Amino acid sequence: MAIRILSDRKLVVLGASLLSATTILMFGIHAAETRPPLSSVQHDNASVSGVVPEQATHAKYTGNPNSSQEAGTPTAPAVQPSDGRTAGNHPEAAVQQGKPGPVKATKQVALTFDDGPDTKYTPQVLDILKQYEAKATFFVVGRQVVKHPDVLKRIHEEGHSIGNHSWDHANLTKLSSNQIQKEITSTDEAIEKIIGASTPLVRAPYGAVTASIKRNLTSAGHQLVEWTVDTKDWSGTASADMVELVRKRTKDGGIILMHSFGGKNGNLDNTVEALPLMIEALKQDGYAFVTVPELGVKKE
Ligand SMILES: [Zn+2]
Repeated sequence: MAIRILSDRKLVVLGASLLSATTILMFGIHAAETRPPLSSVQHDNASVSGVVPEQATHAKYTGNPNSSQEAGTPTAPAVQPSDGRTAGNHPEAAVQQGKPGPVKATKQVALTFDDGPDTKYTPQVLDILKQYEAKATFFVVGRQVVKHPDVLKRIHEEGHSIGNHSWDHANLTKLSSNQIQKEITSTDEAIEKIIGASTPLVRAPYGAVTASIKRNLTSAGHQLVEWTVDTKDWSGTASADMVELVRKRTKDGGIILMHSFGGKNGNLDNTVEALPLMIEALKQDGYAFVTVPELGVKKE
């Protein structure tokens, strides 16, 4: 069993590398505590224990179905696949360019998609993953799971992993241990009822956990999964910028955070646009796309 959970030690290293971001975020944390997590339209990145923060407002679960229309048509120009493949001065890309034929995958990366399932973006993400024969991990919200059981089923049937992302995208650090248990257990049960299998994986909404929450989840048999690269796709980051960031920051064993539901005004068009380019770029850099449980398990 080689499920990879970021160790505390790793988190410290990660934390250190994000020191400047954390400094800025400190303001956000305090601001975040004064308002309910899903009602805000700002990026409040709640992080309580120094864990890498997740975006705070990505999921408008009860959001207006017309919100994407209200947001208008995306104006960003389409990015050609070649941009991803030849991404500028990336050193590994330069090395690879000299080699004939397809690049052999020698490294692993886990693409992760949070907050779904939905019927708009999750199926598009699944289509792209299928096209590239890439496996990913979906951290799903119980409330969405019961709304779209067929999409959850499809995720499972197409060989992706599923993880628990709480019932209603709750900030676990604001709940009692009974409430936390309810958030996690109800979602676990909803998942199991639909796909006939349980999942040990849990990703805390906003990445917000305390040491004791972590301990409780772990002792209950859960495996807390964080991430190493945050695309901030929910905020409307341009697809080319996402691809560049991911290519720059991804290392062997990396976990990339994206979303398949939510986003600013319910819009994740840039995620769908970036995904094929990201996959092609990472492929060129020698990455194989595995699920979180497969990280660290080398295939023959
Ligand atoms: Zn989330």
